[in-house]
Amino acid sequence: MKMEKERTLVLIKPDAVKRNIIGEVIKRIEDTDLKIVAMKMTKASEELAAQHYPDSMIKALGEKGIENGYEAADPVEQGKKIIQWLREYITSGPVVAMVLQGENAVKKMRQISGYTDPCKAEPGTIRGDLSNDSIVVANKEGRTVHNIVHASESIEEAEREIALWFKPEEIYDR
Ligand code: UDP
Ligand code: MG
Repeated sequence: MKMEKERTLVLIKPDAVKRNIIGEVIKRIEDTDLKIVAMKMTKASEELAAQHYPDSMIKALGEKGIENGYEAADPVEQGKKIIQWLREYITSGPVVAMVLQGENAVKKMRQISGYTDPCKAEPGTIRGDLSNDSIVVANKEGRTVHNIVHASESIEEAEREIALWFKPEEIYDR
């Protein structure tokens, strides 16, 4: 049995901050039993953006675009474009960064976030309810899909990302 409390990183992305729906996202988080143990509004530097979206993600990003109907011959070439758009996008304005803590924090936050492509995300999820954007349209327009939140996908990813965005003393165990 795992004794440590599980944590996950959430970012309310720049498009959602611009649309004044921070509160709507936080409300949905607080409706779960997860606790917000760190939170700040901050603008990512180019360095942080490249650490948060590292080159090792390139192929998977290209593959996800293709899986979702964007026609591209080479996932790696497509992934290189997407990662460039992602880094530009995440540095384009302030984000709200949070650490959530609680049992199955990673999985629960992914569940309430919904699928990456908002036009396919399940109703009732943050992405499904709060965005209508689509990966195909976004890729055609040469930008990243506006899907409201980032949420870590695994415990390892969460630990790596939390360390990028927060100092230990900014996190309140509660
Ligand atoms: N993304 C995109 N186009 C794509 C694939 C991904 O714009 O074809 C963006 C999207 O904003 C997504 C982010 O890249 O949230 C990271 O992709 P990942 O596969 O990790 O999705 P997530 O974990 O956010 O659901
Ligand atoms: Mg991801």
